[in-house]
Amino acid sequence: MEDSYNKTAINGLDPKFKFEVIQAGGEGLSACYQCGTCTGGCPSVEDMDYTPRQIIRMVSFGMREKVLNATAPFICASCYLCQMRCPRDVKITDIMAAIKSISIKYSNSSGNTRGQAFYTSFNEIVYNLGRLFEPMLMLKATFRSKESFGYKIKYLTKSVPLGIEFIKHRKFSMKPKKVESIEEVQKIYENVRKMEAKE
Ligand code: SF4
Ligand code: SF4
Repeated sequence: MEDSYNKTAINGLDPKFKFEVIQAGGEGLSACYQCGTCTGGCPSVEDMDYTPRQIIRMVSFGMREKVLNATAPFICASCYLCQMRCPRDVKITDIMAAIKSISIKYSNSSGNTRGQAFYTSFNEIVYNLGRLFEPMLMLKATFRSKESFGYKIKYLTKSVPLGIEFIKHRKFSMKPKKVESIEEVQKIYENVRKMEAKE
């Protein structure tokens, strides 16, 4: 048994990963029959690197490295729509949250995964401006991640046409703007930090 576990691990899969996610609060994984209802209704799926259905499958297969590097759990808006609609009662939102928390711990020991880099950069910008400034998010998150320099350049180059479309359709401005009562936003962050420190 130990031999077969090692062999699978060598192939890049970790059969224990599923249990790690379940232990972190992600219940119901094994009941998924891949119908895709979760993905079909997800409001954030367009921005995810893997769909919720794929994430569930990847966790079941033990694709630890890929899942912990994914941005999808960090992009998940925790709206619970998928979880409410799942015909198999898979706790998808909780699974996303569990992966996020494992990913943050994992990043702390191995450098910023893409998801962690996105999460940290997003919070940094909202803390300083009170709102998001997308061009800054893209640059900060890309350069903060532990990906190779070549990957970062390739990723940014690939994102340029999308950025141009956003600018053309006035989906984001080219200048960062701070909200008026920034102190209120910062107070919320500080309170959350205090609560987290107590846990
Ligand atoms: S809706 Fe439920 S059963 Fe269907 S793919 Fe998503 S998690 Fe699996
Ligand atoms: S909880 Fe997350 S994964 Fe589920 S539908 Fe909402 S955004 Fe998508």
